[in-house]
Amino acid sequence: MSTFNNYAFAGKRAIVRVDFNVPMDKTTGLVSDDKRIRAALPTIQQILKNGGSVVLLSHFGRPKNGPEAIFSLAQICANVSEVLGVKVQFAADCISEEAFEKSKALQPGEVLLLENVRFYPEETKGDHSFAEKLAKHGDCYVNDAFGAAHRAHASTTQLASFFPNDKMAGLLMNAEIENAKKVLHNAERPFTAIVGGAKVSDKVLIVENLLQIANHIIIGGGMAYTFYKAMGGQIGASLCEEERVDTCKEILDRARTMGVQIHLPEDAIVADRFAADAQTKIANSGEIEANWMGLDIGPKAIETFRAVLLESKTILWNGPMGVFEIPAFEAGTKNIALAVAEATAKGAFSLIGGGDSAAAVQQFNLSSQVSYVSTGGGALLEYFEGKTLPGVEALEA
Ligand code: AMP
Repeated sequence: MSTFNNYAFAGKRAIVRVDFNVPMDKTTGLVSDDKRIRAALPTIQQILKNGGSVVLLSHFGRPKNGPEAIFSLAQICANVSEVLGVKVQFAADCISEEAFEKSKALQPGEVLLLENVRFYPEETKGDHSFAEKLAKHGDCYVNDAFGAAHRAHASTTQLASFFPNDKMAGLLMNAEIENAKKVLHNAERPFTAIVGGAKVSDKVLIVENLLQIANHIIIGGGMAYTFYKAMGGQIGASLCEEERVDTCKEILDRARTMGVQIHLPEDAIVADRFAADAQTKIANSGEIEANWMGLDIGPKAIETFRAVLLESKTILWNGPMGVFEIPAFEAGTKNIALAVAEATAKGAFSLIGGGDSAAAVQQFNLSSQVSYVSTGGGALLEYFEGKTLPGVEALEA
């Protein structure tokens, strides 16, 4: 099997599947955060340095019926050129004759960005003959799109099959897998997982799988209130998934029998409305008055969670503790991020899931004080749910 570091890229055109699904500022129409572009830099630069050329392939947003200007990668081509320090060419369709001519003409050191691969519905269907066309763009296939590794799409799975001896994970993909494996299979103990975010239904599978591997599970965010409901608490107008109340009871029972400690936030910052200028007060999470809703964890919960984290040697974090996008409800998430940073400084290994947890750590300027911030929200979640990632499997097959 080829590996990225020993592959001879000289004189070859490498098709590099990246995740350039970057957020855009709606008012300016500019890239609002280029983290995903920067994350792919080491892979692209190493190929160019070794005398290869690069054909970049990515999805961007969720176009439904073919090309749409708001999902065109043409909008980010200048950003890629700037970050890379190389003028990046653009092909306005990923499988047109013009695109094939451009990729064929690439010289060592040159880079071509292809238009959004999802402009073809064949991409999300995992269509084999579409992948065969994409394969014509290069001599080898590098997958660096960890953020899309949980999708069995044409460019993330089928495409690999056309390069049986010339397919490999890029440097970002390798780093993501290595860090995730370290936590899933080699966690130094105590291992604490923090799970937050809006809904229990999105996180049930990860919590169930974590019951097998973690020593402590801290639960925060909107999902905590369904657990309080399951314990017979009053949760007022807080988020609640009635159909998940029984699941929460089962999780609490199983944790007890398996010796896993589940920590729920004993208090909450409650608000009379879901708004930045709502009236707020502190309440016990299981005693919230009607019409009030828990939008953040309270000070006692922060102290308890912090103490657990400071005793931990491995920490996995997926999902915020409250509505951290609104300053009145950010303290829980911020203090937990600070506690994770403090634990990391004391020697713990901390892995921050992508998506909202990564955004939160970035918002509080703590990205450099944790061990690793993943670029893959859904992919990392599925990995910790115990699923196989099709994008990773396709490279190993
Ligand atoms: P997720 O994508 O499931 O990780 O959820 C993240 C979202 O959950 C963020 O946008 C938060 O604002 C939201 N969230 C966190 N805590 C609460 C809460 N107590 N009530 C409502 N939404 C919440």
